[in-house]
Amino acid sequence: HTKNNGRNGYNFFQPSMNTLAQSQLQLNNDLWQALDNQELRLFYQPKYCAPSGPILGFEALLRWQHPTRGLLAPDIFLPIAEKTGMIVNIGNWVIDEACRQLHMWHLQGHPHWSVAVNLSAVQFEQSGLVETVQAALAKHQIPAELLTLEVTETTAMRDPEESVRILTELTRMGVKASIDDFGTGYSSLLYLKRLPASELKIDRAFVNELQAHSEDATIVSAIVALAQSLNLKVVAEGVETADQQAFLTGLGCNTLQGYLLGKPLPPERISELPNFVDAADALAQL
Ligand code: C2E
Ligand code: MG
Ligand code: MG
Ligand code: MG
Repeated sequence: HTKNNGRNGYNFFQPSMNTLAQSQLQLNNDLWQALDNQELRLFYQPKYCAPSGPILGFEALLRWQHPTRGLLAPDIFLPIAEKTGMIVNIGNWVIDEACRQLHMWHLQGHPHWSVAVNLSAVQFEQSGLVETVQAALAKHQIPAELLTLEVTETTAMRDPEESVRILTELTRMGVKASIDDFGTGYSSLLYLKRLPASELKIDRAFVNELQAHSEDATIVSAIVALAQSLNLKVVAEGVETADQQAFLTGLGCNTLQGYLLGKPLPPERISELPNFVDAADALAQL
């Protein structure tokens, strides 16, 4: 809506809204070019086995190197791509590119690493997803169990019955499923139990507030306990301080992600990360 009903009955433009709409339209046009022009890229954020353990793998996070606006975060352009359906094309590219990168790492002496890819709701519910995933695994010779698909709790619970069906089909191939941003949605525990996921990721909103608000500590403890009782791995995202890390590992949450351990980086910079080479990698090289 770019028009508004004025006090005296006239329709007039609200300049700020108009500018916003124009800028969204322009971004949408640019986005169609971005794929062809190879302006989309994946950054990779490490998942560590805590504390100070090896890198377990990486989460692929989408970035757009826009020709004039600079490096754009997904929150700026993914909502538009979801609306237009372009997210399916973009998402297919992400799956292929993450598998290609993982294969490169395997060749470079990191055969244990896994990669996680985020799926949008539209992409998750799109019928070609299984074929896309299968094709990427085969093309890049990736063992299925080294690919994780992250779906937010909100997406998974939109139509829980349907989510059980889709995730069953996907995990039958051997890929892993992870429930992202857990705690922010409204999970039916009944369906959570039935979802063939292997991992819960605690939303970083709870992790962020661990010191400030004791309710968040209670929620995080409850999520970890829930995950453990459902036999799910639990991952904490957004770990920024040593205190947060200590609290989480104290609860038995041993897979950590966050700026404290490593920010998302372009692939050419991941060798800067701590424990870049671990003992298992070194052994595998012999
Ligand atoms: P997410 O999957 O929950 O990813 C975590 C977000 O938190 C990432 O933001 C990451 O950069 C950020 N983060 C990680 N550690 C910290 C920390 O310690 N502190 C703070 N403040 N932030 C941290 P990013 O990369 O901007 O991505 C935002 C969201 O966009 C993602 O949330 C995911 O839902 C979506 N997304 C990213 N890449 C893709 C993609 O390829 N496809 C789809 N469909 N969605 C994507
Ligand atoms: Mg994620
Ligand atoms: Mg998340
Ligand atoms: Mg998120």
